[in-house]
Amino acid sequence: MNILVIEDEPKVARAIKEGLESEQYRVSVAATGEEGYYMATTQTFDIILLDLMLPGRSGIEILESLRRQGILTPVLILTARDAVEDRVLGLDAGADDYVVKPFAFPELLARIRALTRRGRPDQALRLRLADLEMDRVTRKVERGGQKIDLTAKEFELLEYFLLNARQVVSREMLARDVWKAVDRATPLDNVIDVHVTRLRQKVDVPFKVKLLKTIRGMGFVMKEGNV
Ligand code: CA
Repeated sequence: MNILVIEDEPKVARAIKEGLESEQYRVSVAATGEEGYYMATTQTFDIILLDLMLPGRSGIEILESLRRQGILTPVLILTARDAVEDRVLGLDAGADDYVVKPFAFPELLARIRALTRRGRPDQALRLRLADLEMDRVTRKVERGGQKIDLTAKEFELLEYFLLNARQVVSREMLARDVWKAVDRATPLDNVIDVHVTRLRQKVDVPFKVKLLKTIRGMGFVMKEGNV
């Protein structure tokens, strides 16, 4: 597993490199955005850890350039605790996830594992439950052969339910993983419920068999048959 770390603070870069190498990862470090961009476009990595505050080209600019080039390597951004806007910008620019500095190393490892699992070539490009089907490449959703138009957020929400099919999905999970909520100071429960309702209007209401169920006090489950 090859990891590119784009981080200009030598101490942080060294700590990450040593920690990851002790977990048997192969690690390359770039100390500037330019160098990182060059390496990311000329070599193949399984994941890129990207600091946002870099001299010269910022992490956001690098990320946008990579995505424009069609380089879809998972990107985990490293961000400062108070830089909430940066996190949002980073996710909008195509980052897959973020960790807040200073982070606990096990958290970094867990996020790397999650992203590289997700990025494996054998990962399902098509998700299916009963007669509901999602193509994650073309981003098309059909049920019983009938095309369903979803907003970007509804698509993400449905994708998350399908990836976690037959398991209970709590509002906390949705806030963290779909809304990327940085903290829960402003509860998202109402926002989540509104989106779930809209999604249900599209994928369930017009059809006889209901797939998305509410489990009182716990959250939701997407499955065939009864809860
Ligand atoms: Ca920095």
